[in-house]
Amino acid sequence: MANYPNTLLHIAGAWRGGAEGRSIEVLNPANEEVIGTVAHATQVDLDAALAAAERGFATWRKISAFERSKIMRKAADLLRSRADDIARLMTLEQGKPLGEARVEIMGGADTIDWFAEESRRTYGHVIPARAEGVYQLTIKEPVGPVAAFTPWNFPINQIVRKLSAALAAGCSIIVKAPEETPASPAELIRAFLDAGVPGDVIGLVYGVPSEISSYLIASPIIRKVTFTGSTPVGKMLSAMAGQHMKRVTMELGGHAPAMVFNDADVELAAKTLAFAKFRNAGQVCVSPTRFLVQENVYDQFVASFTSHAKALKVGDGLDASTNMGPMANERRVPQMEALIADARSKGAEITTGGSRIGNKGYFFEPTVVAGATLDMRAMNEEPFGPVALMRPFKEFSDVVTEANRLPFGLASYAFTGSAKTAQALAAGVEVGMMTINHLGLALPEVPFGGVRDSGYGTEGGSEAIEAYLNTKFVSQFGL
Ligand code: NAD
Repeated sequence: MANYPNTLLHIAGAWRGGAEGRSIEVLNPANEEVIGTVAHATQVDLDAALAAAERGFATWRKISAFERSKIMRKAADLLRSRADDIARLMTLEQGKPLGEARVEIMGGADTIDWFAEESRRTYGHVIPARAEGVYQLTIKEPVGPVAAFTPWNFPINQIVRKLSAALAAGCSIIVKAPEETPASPAELIRAFLDAGVPGDVIGLVYGVPSEISSYLIASPIIRKVTFTGSTPVGKMLSAMAGQHMKRVTMELGGHAPAMVFNDADVELAAKTLAFAKFRNAGQVCVSPTRFLVQENVYDQFVASFTSHAKALKVGDGLDASTNMGPMANERRVPQMEALIADARSKGAEITTGGSRIGNKGYFFEPTVVAGATLDMRAMNEEPFGPVALMRPFKEFSDVVTEANRLPFGLASYAFTGSAKTAQALAAGVEVGMMTINHLGLALPEVPFGGVRDSGYGTEGGSEAIEAYLNTKFVSQFGL
């Protein structure tokens, strides 16, 4: 495929191949063709990246927040100006429709702007003292070099939150970006470097994820670990970080309940939730998954949601008429097939979809599973694909019990005409995020994160930068 680059590592200010000269093939999930390669880092490269991160931290932390903020805003503008070209790379490597790729990149630029502003507001406090002449202060300091591990579903969005928060705080960072979707992350890094971030401050590596994470997390140079991905991997990395006493942020899997009540605007709920479900072919940690619908409106909701699913045009993301692209990698296809076969065998009705489309490219039909029961695998495991599970409920307490049944606690959705119901849901559902009667998640200025097995820490809102800061206390007398 023309115009798709071979992606290099970025270490110590230079774009280069790995020390051993190895590379990994990158496929286009729409046609399974090899479109390029990505350089493969080994320990020699990681040592160089770590040494650079140490130097980069010493430099970057001394640059004033005012100046850091200016450089970051320039990076945001560069990213916006390059959005069309980068979106094309993202669609080629990840599969999502061009329009979605562009929205992700423009949203990334907004995230950079947000953290650029936060950089100037990392305030400490003056604490009233017990004795005259004593001054008690807190100072916010950058935690140190960060190791960030990010997945392939949002190649830019998953990095930009970590990278922007780290840079805003004054940290250097090594990003282990996804091998499946390497080119668009490299362009994100390039925007920061072109804007004036010194080369040692941002490292970019690819390779064998487990080898890179275990090496970086164990290094005394790294002071903070941040990961987005699956819960099992998140638990493993958290345990490793614990052994080395590293600060951690974990943004892990979800299984979001979408709760629709008898008094809801059912058509609005079906349209809004179908859009949310099939965005990025369902490969979204906050994707609505368990559709819990109150009995009186269950049939109407399932019919309306099914008709929205049927209307979607699935195809190559580069085609302007495509609503949903392929899934991003081969292993997702058998996952979907297994979950659907299991649901069928347990009595589900598939009102639309259920199968792979063709045999070239990882296309899968938007799928609606009605009559989902709690013993079905898909009701317990995160599908991470275009599968919506429908289940009726009777009483308010039933839906809260079901919403809280799984160990996940990331996003949740609700549609109701009652403020009382909305308030009771907000209080009763154990999640990090809830959006009611609209889609209101994942803006840079609002918290983004989960509880329980969905992880800890937030990657948005004014709380996010705290994850990259230490609080130092100073008590002073007699000066
Ligand atoms: P996976 O668990 O193998 O990998 C998930 C991500 O973690 C990938 O980016 C991978 O490169 C990385 N990873 C895996 N092992 C690692 C390690 N030891 N050290 C560092 N990074 C490591 O799963 P997958 O097949 O790539 O994705 C499927 C599952 O991952 C989904 O079911 C979903 O639960 C989860 N996932 C979640 C998100 C999210 O946004 N939270 C994104 C992508 C994938």
